[in-house]
Amino acid sequence: MATSGSSAADQAHPSGSPPSGARGLVLVVEDERAIADLLRLYLSRAGFGVHVATDGESALEAVRSVRPVAVLLDVGLPGIDGIEVVRRLRAAEDWTPVLFATARDDEVDRVLGLEIGADDYITKPFSPREVVARVKAVLRRTSGPADAGRVLRVGNVSLDPGARRVYLGSDPAQEVELTTTEFDLLAHLMRRPARVFTREQLLSDVWGYAATLGTRTVDVHVAQVRAKLGPSSPIRTVRGVGYSAEPPAPSRPAGR
Ligand code: CA
Repeated sequence: MATSGSSAADQAHPSGSPPSGARGLVLVVEDERAIADLLRLYLSRAGFGVHVATDGESALEAVRSVRPVAVLLDVGLPGIDGIEVVRRLRAAEDWTPVLFATARDDEVDRVLGLEIGADDYITKPFSPREVVARVKAVLRRTSGPADAGRVLRVGNVSLDPGARRVYLGSDPAQEVELTTTEFDLLAHLMRRPARVFTREQLLSDVWGYAATLGTRTVDVHVAQVRAKLGPSSPIRTVRGVGYSAEPPAPSRPAGR
């Protein structure tokens, strides 16, 4: 099957505009072209954007450049295999959800026996419905951006992505007014609690790849969010790296 028939939403461009796909972008890592094309078809029909990588090295690059909501990862790949890909991701503190695609029982045993931080596995041959259901299940469990209606909570702060509202506390909750960009920045961090984002990643993820702004822009918006949320602000500065969302430690000054 030729890929020329795929829609624009299927294509991700590491250096272009952020890919569309209402449910987010899934990275499919598969060296067999026919299987990759089928997966692209199933997932894009279900509303996902799809980016395909055909070996382990380019998969690692793609996780960094296209920032998928989940990775559907073949175990048997040329070069570094799927298991090694996950090992390297987790070693780099990258917790992007991974769903392994295994072709044989011995691969299932390896995947299960290694406890390397895969989120699920699926055995070939798979049906379209099964693939889509399992990807959605992984995203539900890992509370990825596909859960647009789910209220995110970190510490004392609640964020409702659907209603675009932010609250402090719960009884009673106090609404905090954020600008669009402040909201998007906070939501991005809160979707993946404890994951550290560099300023460059945040610029690209929140402001878009076309942003010609300097990374100082990120610092300015972080400062604005902190000023509005006060001591409850979940944004933590990771010195020399960037920012993450974590409940503020009581012993630390807010925002450190
Ligand atoms: Ca393979």
